[in-house]
Amino acid sequence: MSTPIRLTDAVLVVVDISGYTSFVQKRTVSLEHAEAIVSELIESIIDHADHPLVVNKLEGDAALLYAETRGAREAAAASAIRQVSGFFTGFATSLQRIGTERRHCDCDACANIGSLKLKAFMHIGEIVIKRVRTFEEIAGDPVILVHRMTKNALPLREYVLMTDAFCAAGGSDIEDLRSIRERIDGAEIALHWCDVDAIGRRAAQLPVATSPAPAPAPDFERSRAFAHLPRADAAWANAGPIAALRQLLSRWRGR
Ligand SMILES: [Zn+2]
Repeated sequence: MSTPIRLTDAVLVVVDISGYTSFVQKRTVSLEHAEAIVSELIESIIDHADHPLVVNKLEGDAALLYAETRGAREAAAASAIRQVSGFFTGFATSLQRIGTERRHCDCDACANIGSLKLKAFMHIGEIVIKRVRTFEEIAGDPVILVHRMTKNALPLREYVLMTDAFCAAGGSDIEDLRSIRERIDGAEIALHWCDVDAIGRRAAQLPVATSPAPAPAPDFERSRAFAHLPRADAAWANAGPIAALRQLLSRWRGR
């Protein structure tokens, strides 16, 4: 049985809590409290995630989310900007609440809650969605790139960092967008960043999504690189690169 695989264009968002590493290195009772605080903060962020943005994976002090663009890149990028802005607001509110709740604990974790900050990384590109039993895994170069972006040289602890592709889809109207060049996997690429206030101002300018209802069945555009593969919105079990490979093999054997 082949694994259901399909290709789709998607917005990718990684949110990452910084300050965690130095936080847990200060040993006392703090290790346990640090874990609890960060888990609660990550939960408060993903609780704010709304259609079409879905949480794909929790990675300790970070989370990976994605939204299929379904042929409407600008709308998907705008929705992601609004939601990321909401993540920062939710993070700040939760930080304050947790700080108040834990004000009587003097462990390093609870005493330094205020030093935790949030970063967000945004990209857009064609990914592979693989369904393994009830789990959905996402893969592809864009997924690797958005993770690599978290290891950048920006000497800041709170910001939103975007790729050229994301900017082209919806980030270019953000005020005070600044560019940096980063070496990722041996290649130099341009990235663009702004502070939390700038993303908040941009989010406030964007029109509110007209309908929260899920979009109809995907009929997304396919890149030429994958044009030889069966359409992703065909029956899951028969579509995908594995089925294509089988077809090729049987044709080749028949010669
Ligand atoms: Zn504590």
